[in-house]
Amino acid sequence: MKNIGIVINSIDYKESSKIVYLYTPLGRDSVKASGGKGIKKGYLGFTTTGNVVSYVRSDAKFPSLIEYSIIDSIFDITNDINKLNSFGIIIKIINSLPDDINHERTYNYIIKVLNDLKISNNPKKVLSIFLIKILYTFGVAPNLKTCVTCNNENINSFSINLGGALCKNCGPKNDKLNIWNEYYYDKKSIDEYQDVDFDNLLKDIYKYYSIHANINLDFNNQK
Ligand SMILES: [Zn+2]
Repeated sequence: MKNIGIVINSIDYKESSKIVYLYTPLGRDSVKASGGKGIKKGYLGFTTTGNVVSYVRSDAKFPSLIEYSIIDSIFDITNDINKLNSFGIIIKIINSLPDDINHERTYNYIIKVLNDLKISNNPKKVLSIFLIKILYTFGVAPNLKTCVTCNNENINSFSINLGGALCKNCGPKNDKLNIWNEYYYDKKSIDEYQDVDFDNLLKDIYKYYSIHANINLDFNNQK
C-alpha cells in the first residue's frame, strides 16, 4: 500500500541509515531508510524536512522504506528567511499535535497551508491564520461568542490571558476581537483576510499558545 506524508524530521541511525518521521493522514509515522540495498536512487528526498512524499514501507514493527517518490518540495521557500521561520513553527505545531485528533482533516489543512506559504508574499500572515485556526486541535480554541467572565453576549474585546472575548463591563474595548474572530472563523483566500501588524499579532498568538496550550513557539524567547 502506498502512503503519503510530510517529512517532519530525520535522525541518523547506525552507520548509513536514517529514521525518518512523517506526518500522514493517519497520524505520525516513522520509517527506517537504509542507504544499502533496496533504494537505488538514495534517500535524500525522503529525508528532507518539508518534502511531501509517497512511499511504500515494510510491514515490520520497525518498518523500512522500500521505495518513495517526491510529490512536492519546500525547496522554493529556502531562500526566504521569513518563510523558513514560519515553516519551522508549522513543523513545531505538527510535532505537538495530540494523537486523538482527525489527522486526515489536519493533514489536508497543513498541505494547503504549506502551499499558501509557497505562493504568498506574506508568510507571517499565512502563519498567523494557521496558528489561530489550528488552535481547536489542541482543545484550546478561543471563546469568541460570549464574555468569558460573565457570559454577556455584548462583547467588545479579546483577552489573550483569559482566552476569549470580554464584554464592556469586564474589559476595555480593543480591536483584537475583530481579528481573532475573522482569522478563526472565516474561510477565504489569504489575500482576503485583513492585514494587521503581524509581528504584534504573532506575539499575542505565541502568548496564547504558551498560556493555554503550554507550547512555546517563540524561538527568541526559549526558556
Ligand atoms: Zn463580562
